[in-house]
Amino acid sequence: MKHQVLRGFTGAAALVALVALMELAPVAQAPVAQPPSPAPQPAPAPGRQGGAPPVGAAGRGGGAARSGANGIEMVPGRGPAGPGYTEPLGKKHVLVLGGPAGFYHMSTPKAMGTVFELGEQSNLYEADIRTDFSWVTKGQAPHNLDYYDAIVAVNITGNWPLNDQQKKDFLAFIHDDGKGFVGIHGSLDANHGTAWPEYVDMIGGEFLFHPWWVSDAPIIVEDPSFPAVRHFPKTFTLTDEMYEPRMETFSRDKVNVLLRMDDTKLDYEGRMNVRPDHDFPLAWSKMYGKGRVFYSTIGHVAENFDNPDVRTMYLEAIKWVLRRTDGSTTPHPKVN
Ligand SMILES: [Zn+2]
Repeated sequence: MKHQVLRGFTGAAALVALVALMELAPVAQAPVAQPPSPAPQPAPAPGRQGGAPPVGAAGRGGGAARSGANGIEMVPGRGPAGPGYTEPLGKKHVLVLGGPAGFYHMSTPKAMGTVFELGEQSNLYEADIRTDFSWVTKGQAPHNLDYYDAIVAVNITGNWPLNDQQKKDFLAFIHDDGKGFVGIHGSLDANHGTAWPEYVDMIGGEFLFHPWWVSDAPIIVEDPSFPAVRHFPKTFTLTDEMYEPRMETFSRDKVNVLLRMDDTKLDYEGRMNVRPDHDFPLAWSKMYGKGRVFYSTIGHVAENFDNPDVRTMYLEAIKWVLRRTDGSTTPHPKVN
């Protein structure tokens, strides 16, 4: 059953990607889309219908299948499975969340479809795409948080529609269980002020403004050893809408800044809400309790999800929060 559901998601991902491509670019200066990198050929998956020994399931808390109320075979703690189901060796589960309560970004379907594709192409994880939040729970759900290894939050602006218990479950998923979190662009413009300060603490800050709107941003790589950014040149430009985080809730003392804008190359004439310290971090890594957190503001522009370097950044970020690679979360001063 699970595979039928996933095939459905494949179709949905293709559809949302198509819809995104049909939308007009948000600005005339949208970057020339670079051809997507050749899709790496995934290694053949270990037998998924009983062909290979159930190595993965044995180490993942799997057990004897039982029949759920709806007749779907369930593996305790791991969700639906068919008879003889063998979990792919080491394959992770990622919940891709969209569904903004605030500003809607037209790049959202493209971004969510991209995260799904990256999982398939890398053979690293299976992704579920959701635009409601009912699976953000440790209680009853077709797949609850115990099933997942990481959450990727795509442009979820505004106050997330979670009740108090869901908020606790979400934070515990990262902080206590050591699962991963990747925030994309608009997910920094969320849960402001007193709405959910623990979320702001988890992700590492909150949106202040984007003084340069969508423009060619001059970027400096601050931590070239980090897996999600080491493929970038030391300096480069990218057309996107770069957020700056609020001074009050973002601190370099709490995160490892990976990318920032080169403040010496920016035009400040007539720009509103510019941080007085001219520190404009664009991506960072951090810990939240036992869990790994990655955030980047890149992703307002849908075409950037066709950019091989941006795709690599998010794939490597997901790999990192899934603990498949190592990278620093140690804070450091602004690097020139
Ligand atoms: Zn935006």
